[in-house]
Amino acid sequence: MEQAPKYSFVLPVYNEAENVEPMMERLATAGAKLDAPFEVVWVNDGSTDATEAILEKIAAAQSNVRTLHLSRNFGHMAALCAGLESARATHAVITLDGDGQHPPERIPEMVRLWQEGADIVQTVRSDSGDLGPTKRVTSRWFYKVFNVLADTDIPEGAADFRLLDREVVDALNNLPERARFVRGLVHWVGFNKVLLPYAPESRLSGETKYSLLRMMAFALSGITSFSVRPLRLAFVLTLLVVALVVVYLGYVLVAMSSGKYLTPGWTSTMFIILLLGAAQLLVIGIASEYLARMYVEQKQRPVYIVRKRKTSRE
Ligand code: UDP
Ligand code: MG
Repeated sequence: MEQAPKYSFVLPVYNEAENVEPMMERLATAGAKLDAPFEVVWVNDGSTDATEAILEKIAAAQSNVRTLHLSRNFGHMAALCAGLESARATHAVITLDGDGQHPPERIPEMVRLWQEGADIVQTVRSDSGDLGPTKRVTSRWFYKVFNVLADTDIPEGAADFRLLDREVVDALNNLPERARFVRGLVHWVGFNKVLLPYAPESRLSGETKYSLLRMMAFALSGITSFSVRPLRLAFVLTLLVVALVVVYLGYVLVAMSSGKYLTPGWTSTMFIILLLGAAQLLVIGIASEYLARMYVEQKQRPVYIVRKRKTSRE
């Protein structure tokens, strides 16, 4: 039987026909430096251009290349999950984009950090790289908002260029939830993490597949799959309204004791409005709390994950 590869390089691609071949060459060069068997897993996320044909040609010529064609465009995260599930590496999996923005030349260094004991080598974009101005701003905001709202922190600029130990890949594959925001889950699972700065390169060819709208949808799905804090807004508003009641009550008392004339009916009307508002918000807050619990439960994430002891990292 064919020997199982020690390393898998996983690349989700959607209409990257011009980029596949140049990337393949760079991957082969990087892989050769590892002195160990490796495989390249291309996940074709429902491309409508020549991506499929080019991938098949490469796979026919090279035995360590495998392809996976999804039945339609399922999105970057789903394609990444498909790749992680089919990776056969016994040691570690490296995921990267197929457009050349994640330089494969850094792979040997990532593997070295893994050999030194890191379970996750997460690359983080340094500012020196070639990232458009829109991307720079939207990305910065995304990480900020995410980290404020969610309980899991993602390092700023930590995209989907990373090495994952086999153990981590298994943990991710075993998560029962459907909506997989890999970028957050990788940090949620824990393990020993090492950050590696890198300068992003510009796209080899073609356009980004993430329009501003798609990026916002991506951010929203990421935040809502990691945070129930927005649901707690009603409680915060309740406190605000109660504070208003107290302030208003103070004002009324002072006005009355100093004999100031108050319009009849005004005070009682104000109180009824404020109190009803607070009561409604409170009930919404309580309902949201139960909703949040159900939401967390239905994700069925494991209560804990064991980090097994490693024997060898050769
Ligand atoms: N991608 C994918 N499915 C999609 C969108 C993108 O597999 O629906 C791939 C794409 O081919 C690339 C990677 O995901 O390899 C990152 O996408 P892109 O470069 O467009 O995003 P950006 O780098 O601009 O964030
Ligand atoms: Mg890109």
